[in-house]
Amino acid sequence: MLEQKIASYRLQPMGMGYVDRSGKANIMQSNRPAAHLRESRSFDNLLRSYMTSAEGKRFLQYAHSQGKNFINIVGAGSADLGDHVVAALLHDGEKGVIVGNYEGQSFQGRVQELGAMYGLSEQAALEYVLNHELGHAAGNNSETSNEGFVKQYFLQQAQRTTGPEQRKYVRLAAVAAYREKEAKKAGKS
Ligand SMILES: [Zn+2]
Repeated sequence: MLEQKIASYRLQPMGMGYVDRSGKANIMQSNRPAAHLRESRSFDNLLRSYMTSAEGKRFLQYAHSQGKNFINIVGAGSADLGDHVVAALLHDGEKGVIVGNYEGQSFQGRVQELGAMYGLSEQAALEYVLNHELGHAAGNNSETSNEGFVKQYFLQQAQRTTGPEQRKYVRLAAVAAYREKEAKKAGKS
């Protein structure tokens, strides 16, 4: 879940596509535009439905309650982000797009892999990834601060839920704590 800071996403030289807020698809530098278009529409639908779901709304509310200001998310799509990247926020500090990786493997396949790695269901892994990118969009620029931020959110949810829902958030908080430590070790403060 790499976060890439770029001067202007319009000039980003990677193969990518995104759907803007009016529903218009934009494809850039792509050597397989049909695939990028399909993946962009699919990721945009995923993010939209997440942001209007009970879980997504709770996370956005949490970020606001912590005094966070979101950059302007002008679209969502897919991009060629290389290996070991699930998704990214491509932004210039004021506006940005959230993209799933589509290089050699679908975003969904990468989410399933991440889930398998951490013992999370596909749905929980997706919640993790989308919260992570929204955490970046809320101004948590470094990996350490962002993992710490989502960890606090998951801990809060673990206190407020019961049963399977609570177990999911306990697990998500543990994953964030682990990744926070790893990021600290790697000096990504
Ligand atoms: Zn990140």
